[in-house]
Amino acid sequence: MNDLYIGVDIGSVSINIVGLDDSKDMQFKLYKRNPGSPVEVVKEGLASLNKKLKDRFKIAGVGVTGSGRQLIGYILGADIVKNEITAHATATIEQVPDVRTIFEIGGQDSKLIVINNEIVTDFAMNTVCAAGTGSFLDHQAERLGVEIEEFGDLALQATKDVRIAGRCTVFAESDMISKQQYGFTKPEIINGLCEALVRNYFNNLVRGKELHPRFVFQGGVAANAGIKAAIEKEINDEVIIPDNHDVMGAIGIALLAQEEMREKDEPSSFKGFSITHDNFETSSFICEDCANECEVIRIQANGKTIAMTGDRCGKWASDPRDIDVKDETSA
Ligand code: SF4
Repeated sequence: MNDLYIGVDIGSVSINIVGLDDSKDMQFKLYKRNPGSPVEVVKEGLASLNKKLKDRFKIAGVGVTGSGRQLIGYILGADIVKNEITAHATATIEQVPDVRTIFEIGGQDSKLIVINNEIVTDFAMNTVCAAGTGSFLDHQAERLGVEIEEFGDLALQATKDVRIAGRCTVFAESDMISKQQYGFTKPEIINGLCEALVRNYFNNLVRGKELHPRFVFQGGVAANAGIKAAIEKEINDEVIIPDNHDVMGAIGIALLAQEEMREKDEPSSFKGFSITHDNFETSSFICEDCANECEVIRIQANGKTIAMTGDRCGKWASDPRDIDVKDETSA
């Protein structure tokens, strides 16, 4: 049996799972919209990975990244849990070792990562303003009656520039309607929207930072040729779109899991594929044992507590117990 390293990226819009073999070749890839139940998506994804690879591979390491990394990390028994910046940078450096600048634009957030000599020296994240993320384009595509997949190619057909005021989605929509009324064509409007997104991205994240080549553009939105062209126009340079640009976070954390396990030289703490049959429940309670009054998150599998987190002193995390508490929330 060959070794397999699983990388899981839990984002707010998509959940990505990859399986890399010892030679870092991708044996499994899943990009799935997050319908708001990440645990179920991860269970389904792992079940499908197991079905495809169980006769050829054994799990040698598991890494989890993304905004929901702590919960999924506990559930899977991850060997490594790291933030998205580290995971994305790791995957990019593997493919483009001399990268200096990463533009990452996802469905609902975007990032700028600055790298020097394979080390992250600066970064910025936007999780608040939709106007610099893929959801801005999704919204406008729907308004124009165009499939988002066609957006990029249509943008490239524009023969004239038109500036859309895209500071926020509401402004963009009203400006787009008036530009349509002036007679600008659909490709010109779409190109204007792509440029508006890129302007927002640069206004929110770049803010005067000095950027150096080589430039890499990744994230789900990197499939859009119109945005790529708009970024290249903005920086007056070429951007590279890496292979599997839509799952770079998952690739990065799988690579980090591989590195971690090689250093540790011990078996993975992965809880096994039986978890795909378990029922998980998340709830929280307020610990009143001191003035901090921490909100402690409790994760149960089949009614039994498997992990607790959120306690500042660590008293619950180090000893997760089945206690009778009044839940504040449950999911
Ligand atoms: S979890 Fe620890 S730090 Fe938080 S309220 Fe309870 S005793 Fe205090």
